[in-house]
Amino acid sequence: MSRSVLVTGGNRGIGLAIARAFADNGDQVAITYRSGEPPQILTDAGVLAVRCDITDAEQVEQAYKEIEEKHGPVEVLVANAGITKDQLLMRMSEDDFTSVVDTNLTGTFRVVKRANRGMLRAKKGRVVLISSVVGLLGSAGQANYAASKAGLVGFARSLARELGSRNITFNVVAPGFVDTDMTQVLTEEQRKGIVAQVPLGRYARPEEIAAAVRFLASDDASYITGAVIPVDGGLGMGH
Ligand code: NDP
Repeated sequence: MSRSVLVTGGNRGIGLAIARAFADNGDQVAITYRSGEPPQILTDAGVLAVRCDITDAEQVEQAYKEIEEKHGPVEVLVANAGITKDQLLMRMSEDDFTSVVDTNLTGTFRVVKRANRGMLRAKKGRVVLISSVVGLLGSAGQANYAASKAGLVGFARSLARELGSRNITFNVVAPGFVDTDMTQVLTEEQRKGIVAQVPLGRYARPEEIAAAVRFLASDDASYITGAVIPVDGGLGMGH
């Protein structure tokens, strides 16, 4: 059955692959994008693209109104939008820290809270949050990012407890290193160093993250909530 699915940050990278996976499923997919224009491939797939900066509560509200008007209440939410501002602690400004937390953690709070309204009414819902392997592993130079991504785990697990009785599941996907714009900033040397630590010996393709997300939103995952699913080629094993 076709569901109303929202993927934040769905114009590129992992979010784009997730949006395409749901569209291939026959779902009614909406994405949010912050800048630029959404790619033609999404328009061709019938995906609704809504401009929305998740650090702005008013823009989040407007985006939901437009999506609800066109697709009905969101039944599956994938909170994927995120940023990095890497810096060693000594040089990390307060803005470097708070802007990353405001996007990755508080931004996720904003979109989840708004989606919850319709899910409570429908007495069902699926929420998948995109965290990162470094949320549990830690990463030098990424204290802001890792803190925001670890925060998503506590957030999801609290909501899994709070809203399980309402038939709403909250799960986290923790990708390892994925080939997207976000990891393009790494030098060839850094890239080689990372790959050397990954048991599968390579980066992930965005579609490999999307497959786990699609599973968590499917009927096959009806009894899974509060889980953190690593899709990291084995990099984070042991957590
Ligand atoms: P990209 O940098 O390729 O894409 C990030 C997406 O988030 C873009 O669509 C961007 O929109 C959107 N976004 C950023 N800030 C905001 C905001 N304030 N409001 C709305 N949208 C925003 O990243 P990836 O695809 O690589 O990453 C997607 C998610 O996966 C992120 O949460 C990231 O932390 C996580 N992740 C990525 C890994 C990787 O190796 N790539 C590994 C582990 C986790 P716009 O295009 O307009 O800027």
